Amino acid sequence: MRIVLMGPPGAGKGTQAKRLTDEFGMTHLSSGDIFRSLRASGSDLGKQLAVRMGAGELVPDDLVVSIMSEAIAENDSADGLMLDGFPRTVPQAQALDEQLIGAGTPLDAVVVIDADENVIVERITGRRSCPKCGKAFHVKFMPSADGDYCDVCQGKVELTQREDDTESVVRSRLAAYVDQTQPVLGYYRAAGLEVIELDGGRSPEEVTADLTEALQAIGLRN
Ligand code: AMP
Repeated sequence: MRIVLMGPPGAGKGTQAKRLTDEFGMTHLSSGDIFRSLRASGSDLGKQLAVRMGAGELVPDDLVVSIMSEAIAENDSADGLMLDGFPRTVPQAQALDEQLIGAGTPLDAVVVIDADENVIVERITGRRSCPKCGKAFHVKFMPSADGDYCDVCQGKVELTQREDDTESVVRSRLAAYVDQTQPVLGYYRAAGLEVIELDGGRSPEEVTADLTEALQAIGLRN
């Protein structure tokens, strides 16, 4: 089964994708994660990505489509695919359709996890992570027992914040979602695709329960 996971930043897409792919064995492909690792490589491509990402703007479609079509071709498997953060524009959605339909594995469903703007800003600006072990924290909802330092790693490893998790950049990312990504939903609805909408303002457990039920109803098995 091939599923697209959509929603504004901070609605819980990454958390749900991880839970579902663990449960159902699908491959999880996050465009944001792929771009962050390319950016970290320091290559010319990584530098191009860094400019847009740092400003909370979308990366140009031609670049996104070329990176993501390669990643999909390399990672698509019989167990299925969960795309998280891609597509984010109508031209990206059209390119994805062309690729998947050409491969004989069209999309089965689109999942939209939405949340209120204030919830999103509070969730995102409080996110922190350990640069050494990767553990995720939140200054209010999941603080480290060791304050600003990782409570797992030895030797005082200071927690870091994603550079695009500041309030002004979050507001730009939200605006990009409304202007450029929400129209993708209209595109999928017009194509007659199953669109599952969930309220991401609730606890992760509640969202997972609803999402699992909805996916099982359209034939996904674990
Ligand atoms: P995310 O981790 O999904 O919030 O993505 C982080 C940043 O990567 C976004 O703010 C964009 O700058 C860029 N990005 C990720 N996916 C896409 C996409 N499908 N199209 C354009 N830009 C993207």
